[in-house]
Amino acid sequence: MKAVVYDGPRNVNVKDVPDARIERPTDALVKITTTNICGSDLHMYEGRTDFEPGRIFGHENLGEVVAVGDAVDKVRVGDMVVLPFNISCGFCENCERGLTAFCLNTNPDPRMAGAAYGFADMGPYNGGQAELLRVPYADFNCLVLPEDARDKERQRDYVMLADIFPTGWHATRLACLNPGETVVIYGSGPVGLMACHSAMIQGASKVWQVDCHPDRLALAERAGAIPINFEQTNPIDKIMEDTGGKGADRGCECVGYQATDAQGSEHPNITLNNLVNSVKFAGTIGVVGVFVRQDPKHPDPLYKQHDGEVAFDFGEFWIRGQTMGTGQCNVKNYNRQLLALIVAGRARPSFVVSHELSLEQAPTGYEHFDKREQGWTKVVMHPDGGR
Ligand SMILES: [Zn+2]
Ligand SMILES: [Zn+2]
Repeated sequence: MKAVVYDGPRNVNVKDVPDARIERPTDALVKITTTNICGSDLHMYEGRTDFEPGRIFGHENLGEVVAVGDAVDKVRVGDMVVLPFNISCGFCENCERGLTAFCLNTNPDPRMAGAAYGFADMGPYNGGQAELLRVPYADFNCLVLPEDARDKERQRDYVMLADIFPTGWHATRLACLNPGETVVIYGSGPVGLMACHSAMIQGASKVWQVDCHPDRLALAERAGAIPINFEQTNPIDKIMEDTGGKGADRGCECVGYQATDAQGSEHPNITLNNLVNSVKFAGTIGVVGVFVRQDPKHPDPLYKQHDGEVAFDFGEFWIRGQTMGTGQCNVKNYNRQLLALIVAGRARPSFVVSHELSLEQAPTGYEHFDKREQGWTKVVMHPDGGR
């Protein structure tokens, strides 16, 4: 099969690799029809993780089931399915509690909980930027889609259920957003835009979106947010001004450890500290932007030399009595309900899509998306060819 293989920093190639196949009786084999490039692929693409050369990227996957193992009961050949980026067992202590991002059975590394397709440190599983994908514990992990999912146009919405729509929603839930409240979202990439979309659906009275890319801020504004370009405006001052000095009720971090200042230098603490200072006393902050344990290439000396430590303004955080929720999204907690919102026409996450490519065009897609080039907000690929 053809697949997008990581060959080293900023070097991906479409290669012929051995076909994915059923390895255990609980597996399904999925022919991928839509798969996305994600911002978290870029950390790996840039060589900022220990993702091994030769492995296949892709954790946002949708396609048709073409084979199932003997122990698969519910999912059938021919079903159209979207796969949570989390690979989880469904029966461990954490999965039982809905914490599928922290499954205790699917990651062989004892220092880790949780697994994902084609992801650094998240288990040995290959990604779905390929013609075929092996899906472990298929009955638990497959979300079976309505018949109209065979339509490529509909797949643009449904594929967002694999990661970014639930992850954006999770940011607002970690932040404990209530109807009528205000929320500031740092980051207007695909996940930040999904957090905005989620906050609007949940009845936020005001959403501020902080970023430096005008094209992404324009999408946020269209989704209902007040855009703040931090290269021109201090986001804390703007939010204090808009709230009479109180601060936003809730805050979401949708950037992660490669956050930059107005001059473009990376500071892993900048969005966290800005959030503490833009959210009200006793407010809540949800952090879904990716932070990693180690990044030997990080320009911040603390992060680089002390394995992911961040100069967090804990004094201010404590004085304000704030609460923070963190970590990857438990996609299965939300994907079925968010599917219902798409089907009902209440959610349209595909508004972030800027480019639809074939799998062969993946190297170009990565290059443009990695440079955050104007107009490249979200790249969707079709390994089964065309639209
Ligand atoms: Zn993703
Ligand atoms: Zn589990």
